[in-house]
Amino acid sequence: MNAFTSNASLVLHPKEPNWTLDNLEALIKFLQQSGLAGDPLNKDENSFLVGKKFLDHVSFMGCSPNIKLEDETADGKFTFIRISTMPGITALTGKHSFAPHCPQCKKPEKNWREILKDNQLECSHCQVTSDAWQYNWRKSAGFARCFIEITDIYPKEATPQPSLLDSLEKSFQVPWGYFFYHA
Ligand SMILES: [Zn+2]
Repeated sequence: MNAFTSNASLVLHPKEPNWTLDNLEALIKFLQQSGLAGDPLNKDENSFLVGKKFLDHVSFMGCSPNIKLEDETADGKFTFIRISTMPGITALTGKHSFAPHCPQCKKPEKNWREILKDNQLECSHCQVTSDAWQYNWRKSAGFARCFIEITDIYPKEATPQPSLLDSLEKSFQVPWGYFFYHA
């Protein structure tokens, strides 16, 4: 499924797939107080401009980040922050997701798109069925009910600082990870 607005995003998510965000306001407050997010975007109440401390929390690989932080482009492509919540565990995979490696035999499952069902995969090598999030996707897919999307960032272009993930964990009592969504 694709609930997202950008075809390439850095996405933060709780590492416990079934974890539910029961207080959206608390997450918004966290993002704004940390300076990762700034003012809301008008078009969507769960979207925000990047905040004043955005570059303290997200580390870019290049020497000069080639990102647009304001809506100054006609095509609307710029980096902003969007919170998505889902009623059930949602598999966020893209065209560029890697073949995930089985948690049992460690072999890659090339046909995962065909056999992914109810968030489970039966390994074609060892025939063990595992939850899809136990596979190693090498940060190219995520499974959760809550995602924080940082739009218009291509794989490996930027990573969240460990301190940001630590603060999220302290505030919401669940460990957080990240991956790159690439449609
Ligand atoms: Zn296997």
